[in-house]
Amino acid sequence: MTSPDSGLAGKVALVTGGSRGIGRAVVERLAGDGMDVVFFYRGNGAAAQETVAAVAAAGGKAEGLPVDVTDAAAVGAAVEKVIESRGRIDLLVNNAGIVRDNLLAMLDDADIRAVLDTNVGGVFNVTRAVVPHMISKRSGRIVNLSSVAGEKGGRGQSNYAASKGAINAFTKAMAVELASRKITVNCVAPGVIDTEMSQAVRELAGDEVTKRILLKRYGRAEDVAHAVWFLASRYADYITGEVLHVDGGFKME
Ligand code: NDP
Repeated sequence: MTSPDSGLAGKVALVTGGSRGIGRAVVERLAGDGMDVVFFYRGNGAAAQETVAAVAAAGGKAEGLPVDVTDAAAVGAAVEKVIESRGRIDLLVNNAGIVRDNLLAMLDDADIRAVLDTNVGGVFNVTRAVVPHMISKRSGRIVNLSSVAGEKGGRGQSNYAASKGAINAFTKAMAVELASRKITVNCVAPGVIDTEMSQAVRELAGDEVTKRILLKRYGRAEDVAHAVWFLASRYADYITGEVLHVDGGFKME
């Protein structure tokens, strides 16, 4: 799907976690609008290749790099490589994330740390590496993937909910900090989206979850990608510090 007037054609995007799920849909959506997209993934090279191939088949440009967002040095080096080869990063989509659900008493240290290190630490690492380049151009867009769990909570999701609440707060703080440099910072907060991440929840909860979604279906990765695209596009020039919910009305039940 292309929207030539979005203002995105020819610009450079960096998307974390672009090998699968929502990240892949975002990469395809942005590349479909003529963006030159670089994405990070953790280790699933086969899935990353599928993303690159899908973009190429549609006539777009995307490159996948195996970069763990929890590794600040690797992130810094990879961002510099992107700058060397492309000269700029116009859009950052902080999408990479993980879950390690369990009731608090059963959560071990590793489950707590892994979720916070990836979902919060990773966003700090990548944003800190990219922002100086946006500041030097006096322009840029940052879109962070939060979650309905960041506001609504979720049984067995204390680590994940805490990480996404942090992302909502981080987004607002960055919006304040970067506004004078003409950089906008927003969040998209999905509900339950049909990807590998939510597979266990969807299988376990079955109809119980869809009953609580006003629109009576799970979201698709593309539903979220459209919202990310909107916040990246010129149509969102005057929006910053916002959390855009894409949850079919889940938070209202
Ligand atoms: P998936 O599990 O389907 O995909 C996760 C992606 O993140 C993969 O590309 C994975 O790479 C990458 N990733 C994970 N850890 C790292 C890391 N340390 N470094 C680099 N890349 C990493 O997740 P979704 O697409 O479902 O979720 C995407 C975002 O949306 C997440 O932030 C999630 O919290 C959020 N979200 C998802 C919801 C849902 O229902 N699915 C609901 C609300 C929010 P690899 O393939 O190499 O493992």
